[in-house]
Amino acid sequence: MSELRYDPMRKSWVIIATERGMRPSNQQKPEQSRPPVSKSSCPFCPGNEDRTPPEIFAVREPGSKPNGPGWTIRVIPNKFPALTIESPRERYGKGIYDVVSGFGAHEVIVETPSDQEQMPDFTVAHLRDVFSVYKNRLADLKRDQRFRYIMIFKNYGSEAGASLCHSHSQIIAIPVTPSLVAVELASVRDYFHLKERCMMCDIIHQEREEGERIVIEDEHFVVFAPFGSSFPFELRIAPKRHSHDFSVIDEEHLYHFSTVVKDVLVRLRKVLNDPPYNFILHTAPPAATRVGKPDYWSSIGEDYHWYLELIPRMTMIAGFEWGTGFQINPTSPEDAARFLRETEI
Ligand SMILES: [Zn+2]
Ligand SMILES: [Zn+2]
Repeated sequence: MSELRYDPMRKSWVIIATERGMRPSNQQKPEQSRPPVSKSSCPFCPGNEDRTPPEIFAVREPGSKPNGPGWTIRVIPNKFPALTIESPRERYGKGIYDVVSGFGAHEVIVETPSDQEQMPDFTVAHLRDVFSVYKNRLADLKRDQRFRYIMIFKNYGSEAGASLCHSHSQIIAIPVTPSLVAVELASVRDYFHLKERCMMCDIIHQEREEGERIVIEDEHFVVFAPFGSSFPFELRIAPKRHSHDFSVIDEEHLYHFSTVVKDVLVRLRKVLNDPPYNFILHTAPPAATRVGKPDYWSSIGEDYHWYLELIPRMTMIAGFEWGTGFQINPTSPEDAARFLRETEI
């Protein structure tokens, strides 16, 4: 039986249509065809630092020089940025249309010097260092009050949009609030004003009580397939204790977060045969005071709850999905969670 489900945070519908018969066995993708990139031509490999713009930040061996080898994690401006920090931030109208100049920041985090290791291969300690770089870049960019939103995300595999196979993630800081983010911010704020509770805390509470959509949990984090999952094996990883801002995560949470992310990536790789995927860090936007809207962010610390969204790319976005904005998902989140939970790693 198919079912229409509503995601209260995204304010969007999804059709869970399990008779379309997508189980892990027939969802497995063939080994991805990764074009062989030789070390000499990969701009992210050590020794080729001069082929990228100068680094913004790096975790380095003592004594090694910037923009040379000796790093373990390296942050650089995107060579082909969608937005640039040099552009002035200008807003203007063109008749009924609104335009903002292409002001922003677009950075690449090269997660490892190795072009063989992918994120599930990293040690927990190295993954913690990568997430610590996320935290620091986020904190740094948040100081620039011209940014309305800062997003950290990862594309893995060419079907998920990665153009280079050397493991990396990206940060984009933009001068407007994306519509999807605006809807989510508004729905959790309305919920909080009505109930004086955080929606995500309530979701986590209910998911842990019901249990059927939980993949794993530890002392500080829970991983679950959302009730209104738009995509097969879509997952959310959230801290159990309320926290709105990833840029202030403490060392203990950073370690536990790395442990559960690694665990889940290893499970996904095993169950879905190394699928392409995207992950997106949803964290509170910079809460700069806005002229004429002094109360705009007054409850953000209480109403917003950060999480990591993880989406294996198993389905195509086709006509119905484009036309309605909602997805047909052939795998129920209950099945997805069970397959992942029961996988031995
Ligand atoms: Zn490389
Ligand atoms: Zn919360």
